Amino acid sequence: MGPRGKQGAVMVRPRIVVHGGAWDIPEDELDTHERGCRAAAEVGWKVLLDGGSAVDAVEAAVRVMEDDPTFDAGVGAFLNAVGEVELDAAIMDGATLAAGAVAALRHVRAPVSVARAVMERTQHVLLVGEGAALFAEAQGFEQCRTSDLLVGRELERWRAIQQQRGFDVRTVFSGQKSAPRGTVGAVAMDARGNLAAATSTGGTPNKMPGRVGDSPLIGAGTYADNNTAAISATGWGEGFIRLVVAKTICDLIEFGFPPEQAVEEVMRRLETRVGGSGGVIVLDRAGRMVIRYNTPRMARAWVDGQGEIHSAV
Ligand code: ASP
Repeated sequence: MGPRGKQGAVMVRPRIVVHGGAWDIPEDELDTHERGCRAAAEVGWKVLLDGGSAVDAVEAAVRVMEDDPTFDAGVGAFLNAVGEVELDAAIMDGATLAAGAVAALRHVRAPVSVARAVMERTQHVLLVGEGAALFAEAQGFEQCRTSDLLVGRELERWRAIQQQRGFDVRTVFSGQKSAPRGTVGAVAMDARGNLAAATSTGGTPNKMPGRVGDSPLIGAGTYADNNTAAISATGWGEGFIRLVVAKTICDLIEFGFPPEQAVEEVMRRLETRVGGSGGVIVLDRAGRMVIRYNTPRMARAWVDGQGEIHSAV
């Protein structure tokens, strides 16, 4: 804990951690992934230094990665089985447990900001499909065509998958098959000690239309609670949903597990109970960071206690 701020709130040193997906990132793409994560962490960090809230910071960081075609979120997202882009995103405020999410959202560039609008401007937590799109339009979010979100790489991948028989999405996370892009996420603590988390994704390649992954499901891929931790997950979403990964980590922390052990235990369950793969970024209420993944690589960046930005893949 540090000195008191203007409003008398106890000021702490802010923190931010971001990820750009956990999978078998190929050698020739390590650099773009690392740079993309670093750029996002820098933007989120600046928001925090300027006195912004943790919610502002995670939204800003995720927006950077939604605009970066390197990642499977916003521009650069996967096509689903019928050649559409359907986006999922969530944001959560650990101070109030307010949360907002959108799923299977089409024709919008910045799903995390729509999720934030759901949190702040509706009485709901999750809007899906047509309803989410109508809400985004009514709220004045920029509309776009599928082709504006589509990059050539994803069109080629989609065409190749259509030629394959028995495509199994689980193999793409473990590195057994040609690779997916990364979901993106951020967790932050602001100077008032408030936590927030956000996650945004195009889901998994060739998903069925209407498929919703863990990212927009509060408690599965995204969770934040000032009493415990802020978490953003990435990986094979069906496994993370079944184990309610993010909230389970928070519960274990609440029951006294140190954050590393809480994460270790949940990753063990993910592997042994559902054969899941992926990773999580965690920032606990004391500002301690845990990054853990069981995939070959995970793109990530973070700011340490001295304000230094680090990145790795
Ligand atoms: N978890 C995401 C999903 O299943 C995908 C990912 O993280 O790469 O939709």
